Amino acid sequence: MSESISGGYNGKILRINLSNNVVGIEKLDSKFCRKYLGGTGFITYFLLKEVPEEADALGPENKLVFASGPVTGTSIIGSGRHSVGAKSPLGESPLGGGIAWSGAGGYWGAELKRSGFDAVIVEGKSSKPVYIWIHDGEASILDAGHLWGKNTKETQQDIRSELGDEKIQVALIGPGGENKVRFACLMHGLHDTAGRGGVGAVMGSKNMKAIAVRGHNAPKVAKPERLKEISRFLRDNLYKDFLTAELHDTGTGGPLMEHMPDIGDLPVRNWRDGLFPEVSKIHAGVIKETIRVGMEGCFGCPVRCKKVVKFDEPYVVDPAYGGPEYEALAALGSNCGIDDLRAIAKANELCNAYSLDVISTGGVISFAMECFERGLLSLKDTGGIELRFGSHEAMLKCVEMIARRQGFGNILAEGTAQLVKRLGRGSEEYAMHVKGLDAGQHEPRRMAAFGLGFMVNPHGADHCCNAMDSWDTDMGLKAVQPLGFLDTVANNEINPLKVALFKTENTRQLMFDCLVMCHLYSMLLDFKTVSDIIEAVTGWDTSVAEQIRVGERIFTSARLFNIRQGLTAKDDKLPKRYFQPTTDGPLSKAGLDPDKMEKARKYYYTIMGWDKEGIPLPEKLEELGIDF
Ligand code: SF4
Repeated sequence: MSESISGGYNGKILRINLSNNVVGIEKLDSKFCRKYLGGTGFITYFLLKEVPEEADALGPENKLVFASGPVTGTSIIGSGRHSVGAKSPLGESPLGGGIAWSGAGGYWGAELKRSGFDAVIVEGKSSKPVYIWIHDGEASILDAGHLWGKNTKETQQDIRSELGDEKIQVALIGPGGENKVRFACLMHGLHDTAGRGGVGAVMGSKNMKAIAVRGHNAPKVAKPERLKEISRFLRDNLYKDFLTAELHDTGTGGPLMEHMPDIGDLPVRNWRDGLFPEVSKIHAGVIKETIRVGMEGCFGCPVRCKKVVKFDEPYVVDPAYGGPEYEALAALGSNCGIDDLRAIAKANELCNAYSLDVISTGGVISFAMECFERGLLSLKDTGGIELRFGSHEAMLKCVEMIARRQGFGNILAEGTAQLVKRLGRGSEEYAMHVKGLDAGQHEPRRMAAFGLGFMVNPHGADHCCNAMDSWDTDMGLKAVQPLGFLDTVANNEINPLKVALFKTENTRQLMFDCLVMCHLYSMLLDFKTVSDIIEAVTGWDTSVAEQIRVGERIFTSARLFNIRQGLTAKDDKLPKRYFQPTTDGPLSKAGLDPDKMEKARKYYYTIMGWDKEGIPLPEKLEELGIDF
């Protein structure tokens, strides 16, 4: 590693070994940065290189990697982000599953960049609770005995007060992470979360409570005037898309959510049903009119799409924890059959205070509700909880018990895949996860390529780094036209053209997690604009082809990581329910076609350069320069 970096990076990685309290700094060079970009790319590289085969996700051999990207902390809208990754504790094996990729917004990523580092690798396990303090090129490991057991708000307050700076940004866990709830998230502040894949449980398994960061020097960019020009263009055009305008007005889950059942995109009662007229009581338009007290945003982003809610009856909800995003409204609301907005907002607050992923918390509860109603779980199993769809009392009780691993909560805390193993008796028919990750709250039965993404993506049923089918119009094809995609294809179709479109769009989304930028306004950014941003920040003259190649390298590296952790092509499978129709609503005629999805999976392997079992071919690894 010798080439120097002209912009976008500090060129330094912080490595912290908690077993022997060693803090080290490693240098990055330009060629490495160009091959993996940052964020999810860096995470994948280090996990593949350093985590041993068949590692215990909750053991000291797992590593927790935080990575910014070249765009993090610049003037580009939505650049206040970073990625977090590890081997995921979720899955069918007690050792956990494959790779966990999770993005977070807020201010932590930009602050890390200003602190002098591009990424942090945490390894080993501390013998006692600790937290890490990173500031202006230095790092230390501090005692966290007095913080253990506290919720996220108390922890953040205590850390800021003992370090004497209210502007410190804190990545942290609450009791959910400490108790190694397998789907614990990693909070950044009190309402920005690296939610997916159980990265909070990995932090808890290392006896680590938090990473506090503060810095004062952003790395230089290669072409500052050009970057200003692009930033101005993005700001001037920001609200031209009606989705961005709605985001600004109401945040995610706005009034459009009310129409999601009409098109079959809202999960209802564990993905069983289609209609949910009560959605009119829980969407973000109603939040705006009733319990909302403000809007907040991430570093340098004028969209400010983050709701803040507050109320005192019938529960007290603290505005410090923000408010529910769409994924929480669906996972803890419609998918549990719950239409009580205040109960959903309270559950969201508890998840943020305890560090639980709202999607997986709702996912395992809705699965347990269905099992209870079908007699697969009894009152004796649940400790007397009438766990029925629509019971917000039961849902709230479960959230509390999961975080503390009390009673039945201890079983739910193991996640949906482990609950299936415990219950047996055909319960897998109703388990809505892929590779242990509970499904993101959009409907594959109406978007076949999105379903393919749930199947083959290395981190499972994730909705972010995926592709939402929208190539049924010329407008929808706009971002991919420079790659020669000129023919439209229906959203519920899955054919070789659709698979190629999926591969392309999935790569485009991956770029946001490598650079790192917000997905929520991705409609403004085609490959060309992304190339322009990369050039302005780093000085590299990249192309669409290079982005696709970087994407192939990262997806293939993640695939290799999963294979070494024991996953196979058999893990690229959708929950059975997606092949069946919903009980009512627009998807009540048919589910996905299993033969077509199987052909699509095989064709995806082919165009990725993987063999029939989904194992990357040696020639492909050589071509992409993956040599470990
Ligand atoms: S659009 Fe919303 S989530 Fe994305 S960066 Fe802006 S404020 Fe954050």
